[in-house]
Amino acid sequence: MDAREIEIDSNLLQARIETLGKIGRREDNGLYRLVYTPEWAEAVDLVEGWLQQESLRTWRDAAGNLWGRLEGTEAGPVVATGSHIDTVPRGGAYDGALGVHAGLAAIRALAKTFGQPRRSIDLLVVCDEEGSRFRSDFLGSAAVAGSFAEDLGLLRDADGVSAAEAMRAAGLEPARFGEARRDDIAAWLELHIEQGGTLESEGLDAGVVHTITGHRIVRVTVEGRQDHAGTTPMDVRRDAMAGAAEMIQQAIGVAESLGRPAVCTAGWIEVRPGAANVVPGVVRFTLDMREADPLRLAELSGGVDLALGNVARRRELQVATEDLMFRRPVPLDADLQALLARHAEALGLRWRSMPSMAGHDSEVMAPRWPSGMVFVPSHDGRSHTPEEYTPIEQVLPGVRVLAAALWELAYP
Ligand SMILES: [Zn+2]
Repeated sequence: MDAREIEIDSNLLQARIETLGKIGRREDNGLYRLVYTPEWAEAVDLVEGWLQQESLRTWRDAAGNLWGRLEGTEAGPVVATGSHIDTVPRGGAYDGALGVHAGLAAIRALAKTFGQPRRSIDLLVVCDEEGSRFRSDFLGSAAVAGSFAEDLGLLRDADGVSAAEAMRAAGLEPARFGEARRDDIAAWLELHIEQGGTLESEGLDAGVVHTITGHRIVRVTVEGRQDHAGTTPMDVRRDAMAGAAEMIQQAIGVAESLGRPAVCTAGWIEVRPGAANVVPGVVRFTLDMREADPLRLAELSGGVDLALGNVARRRELQVATEDLMFRRPVPLDADLQALLARHAEALGLRWRSMPSMAGHDSEVMAPRWPSGMVFVPSHDGRSHTPEEYTPIEQVLPGVRVLAAALWELAYP
């Protein structure tokens, strides 16, 4: 098979990106497709119509994921591709949705060029990856992988509606959630925008993801002594903010000295009592640390812990850290990486192997079955904003790689 024979209908792909990109759009120009909302349901209905137009057999699973199948000649495990259709609040038209569009365009092209595959190819439209409504990341893909561990009755959105209630409102029965689990997936492939600027700045067409980053978030509480901001000399203060500022600077410094792709972000801070003329008694802040290599993640994490302790001791402060999240780096399947790389080469693309510094459905799939990811460039590295954009000519190379890889997994 020569992957260059696979013809992707770029006009149709572009038109579908634009059409779906209008569903859930509000006056602030952002997309709001939070799981189980009417806007989300409208988007899923729209895509289901497209799948049926391409003669895929469609069904909804018990979690609200949409599936479409290009039936194979043989029964048995299937090859699956897709991504998520939900967005963050005020999100864009490419995060997640592009993986759905790409999977559909690839399956359409394969069916037209090569007819029926040997193995069935399933397109998965994941109901919820962002966790924006219930703060439960990967609800849809975890349902498919059978690893969703949270209580749907206890997860609540900002209005106090439980996930179970929201499911019922969307016509789903929460008690049957477990039935969404699949045990017959032979391989999973996901195309996604990079959400960073590496591919664009290096002038590349595609990325083959080797690892999905490890991720630790801690909440740090620094306690000192609340005092008068005028009468307390600097040398006798136990200023929680002076300590916190130094801790944050050093924590960020650990990531800077490790170099790419290590990152550390202090994205939230709270000062008590929070008055201009009072030396702060308590400061709380978060640190979000990510690194794709497990040893370097340990180095980053350990280096930050050490810095917090050292600053606290020197300034006679109490420091406590509470882990809000810890995820190990998830390596993706080596054979699928090689397969994607081979097709990128055969297509004459400029590509690189790279980590994903954002979380994805594939990290939930990877522990269950071989999983692989293709990145396409993000314009200006922007994502989780209405400005996220990838021109169609930068989408197509990734779609071709995806199509060629699906061919190799499902046809011969
Ligand atoms: Zn995404």
